[in-house]
Amino acid sequence: QAKAVGRNTLRFFDPEMQAVVTSRAALEAGLRRAVTSDEFLLYYQAQVDGQGHLTGCEALLRWQHPERGLVAPGEFIALAEDTGLILPLGRWVLDAACTQLAQWATRPEMAHLTVAVNVSVRQFHQADFVNQVLTVLDSTGTNPQRLKLELTESLLIGDVEDVIAKMSILKEKGVGFSLDDFGTGYSSLSYLKRLPLDQLKIDQGFVRNILIDPNDAAIARMVIALGDSLGLAVIAEGVEIEAQRDFLARLGCHACQGYLFCRPLPLDQFEAFVRRV
Ligand code: C2E
Ligand code: MG
Ligand code: MG
Ligand code: MG
Repeated sequence: QAKAVGRNTLRFFDPEMQAVVTSRAALEAGLRRAVTSDEFLLYYQAQVDGQGHLTGCEALLRWQHPERGLVAPGEFIALAEDTGLILPLGRWVLDAACTQLAQWATRPEMAHLTVAVNVSVRQFHQADFVNQVLTVLDSTGTNPQRLKLELTESLLIGDVEDVIAKMSILKEKGVGFSLDDFGTGYSSLSYLKRLPLDQLKIDQGFVRNILIDPNDAAIARMVIALGDSLGLAVIAEGVEIEAQRDFLARLGCHACQGYLFCRPLPLDQFEAFVRRV
């Protein structure tokens, strides 16, 4: 419960609320500092095909906080979105991922890998988003075919024509698109067929209990059938055990990502993983 004290001044009398606001403010201040002081890094998680071959990875953001240690995106992406800090942060991620791709291109054992980058709605809706991507591809000398952008269905709540137009330009350059967390949002199937997508990603929420919950299995089956009929690849995320992988493969989904293959790993460990497989 807050009481307005003059213009733009709010006093919080509920100590619990005060604590929430304070920690949010601390997090925001920390995030602001982190964006300019190099506290972010990318982890990489393998994506494999039906033969178990590594085809690429997803870049997952981590915050190396000076006091708190490694912080996962679940704790700060939403706030970064709210505050607009996602814009510089998202640029940093794109730049870091493409710099890594360009470096891997010089190494035979890494050169074939794609990197999937998560793009938040607010980031994608920037007027110059397409230019940002093209500029970073160009300045790093990255092959656009190696870059995959992961979008979410919430993008389709906005201006769909604009989304399609932006995707089409990047797609024409060779950039790939995956629809992340598919099945958890609100996408209308009529929009889905108009988007120049390459891949649907079955959300881990459906994979988790796929062996015991017939509803989750039915949804996975539907996503795979939809992918088949729209000519899209389907990848499952959150695959933790062999029985889940095998069940998905029987449904026709062969591409997988999850702890079964590898956890998200820091660069050196991911490169060591690639050399081992
Ligand atoms: P996401 O894109 O759906 O990423 C998958 C999440 O599932 C990752 O969590 C990953 O570590 C986790 N995961 C992978 N395999 C397994 C598994 O077998 N079991 C379980 N239980 N979890 C698994 P993470 O790294 O904490 O990222 C969470 C979310 O934060 C991501 O979900 C994505 O939406 C967002 N995110 C991560 N990096 C970025 C980024 O660079 N930019 C933006 N905008 N969002 C990001
Ligand atoms: Mg993702
Ligand atoms: Mg996902
Ligand atoms: Mg997910």
